[in-house]
Amino acid sequence: MAPWLYGQMKVSALDTITSGFKSTPKMPLLFVGHGHPMNALFDNSFTQTLHRLGQTMERPQAIMVISAHWETRGSFVSVNPHPKAIYDFGGFPKELFEVQYAPPGAPALAKSVMEDLPIVQPDPNMGLDHGAWTVLKHIYPKADIPVFQLSIDYTQPIERHFELAQALKKLRNKGVLIMGSGNIVHNLGRLDWRNIDGKTESWAQQFDQTVKQRLGNGDFNALVQYKKLGPEAMLAVPTEDHYLPMIYTLGLADNKEPLKYIYEGFQYGNISMRCFTIG
Ligand code: ZN
Repeated sequence: MAPWLYGQMKVSALDTITSGFKSTPKMPLLFVGHGHPMNALFDNSFTQTLHRLGQTMERPQAIMVISAHWETRGSFVSVNPHPKAIYDFGGFPKELFEVQYAPPGAPALAKSVMEDLPIVQPDPNMGLDHGAWTVLKHIYPKADIPVFQLSIDYTQPIERHFELAQALKKLRNKGVLIMGSGNIVHNLGRLDWRNIDGKTESWAQQFDQTVKQRLGNGDFNALVQYKKLGPEAMLAVPTEDHYLPMIYTLGLADNKEPLKYIYEGFQYGNISMRCFTIG
C-alpha cells in the first residue's frame, strides 16, 4: 500500500452513510469497452449484453464510474446531486444529443471517498460523461440507481492509478458497483469509421488476445506494465485514457476472484469491445 495514499485515511464516513443500507454481498467489478457514442442508440449484440447484465446482476445501492472521458489534473469525485448526461462529443446525429439520462447522484457516498482518500477533491458540477451514460442507459435504463464518477488524474503514472484503486476496495462491500469504462484497444487514427463491422487488423487482435491471456492468468502487473507486452501495445494504447479504466478495475480486485468475459469483439475495425466482470 502506498504511503502517499494512506497518510490520513479515515474509515468512519463511509460506514456511517451506508449503515442504513440493507446488508449486501460484495459487489462484482465491471469493466465495459464502451466504444462509439452511437452505441447509446444502437440495438446490437453489445448493447443487448449490457441490457441482460442489468437484469441478472445483483442490484447495487449506487454506482461509481471511472471513465476514459473524465480526465483531470488531480483526482476528483462528482458530488453533484443531480448529474445529467453530458454531450462531450461533436459531429453526431441530433438523436444522440436528445438522449436523456439523469439518475440521482450520490454526493454523500462521493464525499466519503474524499474522506478516506484526502487527495481526492469534490466537483459539484460534473454530470455524466458519455463513457458513463451511453453504457448505463442500457444496463439500467430507468436511471433509478444513484451514480457518481471518479476522475482520472492524467498527471499520474499508471502504477499510481493501480494503487489508488486498491484503496477503494471497501466500497464493494457497501453495495457500490464500480464500473471502469474505456477500451482495451483504442486508436482513433486506425478505425474504419464508416463500418461498424469493419475488418480488424492483426495488431489489434493480437493485443486484445494478449490482454485476455494475462487477465485469465491473473497477471495484472503485466497489464500495468503493458508497454512490455510487445510492439502491438503502442498501436493499441497510443494514449492511456481508455486503458486506465481497466487498470482501476484490476486494482480493485482481490486475489483469485473469478473473472468472466461478458462480451468479446470489435467495432469499427479496431476498437476492442471486450467487457468483463470480476467477483
Ligand atoms: Zn471513449
